[in-house]
Amino acid sequence: MSISDCIFCKIVAGTAACEEIYRDEATLAFMDINPANDGHCLVIPKAHFENVFDMPLPDFGTVASTAAKVACVVNEVLRPGGINLTQANGEAAGQSVRHVHIHVLPRRAGDDLLMNWSRGGGDEGRFDPHRIAGIAERLRSRLRG
Ligand code: AMP
Ligand code: ZN
Repeated sequence: MSISDCIFCKIVAGTAACEEIYRDEATLAFMDINPANDGHCLVIPKAHFENVFDMPLPDFGTVASTAAKVACVVNEVLRPGGINLTQANGEAAGQSVRHVHIHVLPRRAGDDLLMNWSRGGGDEGRFDPHRIAGIAERLRSRLRG
């Protein structure tokens, strides 16, 4: 897919419509076209990055900051029971639009919206404390480097 086919880039460019709620130099927020609950909206970088792995870390920080700002306003205006800030990277993670976006997702008790994971079907042996410690050590050494 080229950037010119990206629906969120078209929204940024103004060649596709959206219900915009906020924009600044680097980010844009608009209502999700297929909301899971009232007030469900998306926050994106104006620049095209497919996922967080492609993106300079401070740029993701800027998007996260706008998402927090929008979440505070959604919380004040709509008073949901809670709000999930959620973001998918890659098809297996549930990403359907290949332009980084953070969902600001208002929640109500009992709304039955399932996050896309469960306790079944995960990696074999994942509860083993030695396995967890081994993975932690691999991550720690890379994060230190
Ligand atoms: P994800 O599945 O995490 O990639 O989320 C993509 C989200 O983008 C979905 O919740 C869609 O409803 C939403 N979406 C897709 N196209 C549009 C659009 N043109 N305007 C607003 N939201 C959109
Ligand atoms: Zn894009």
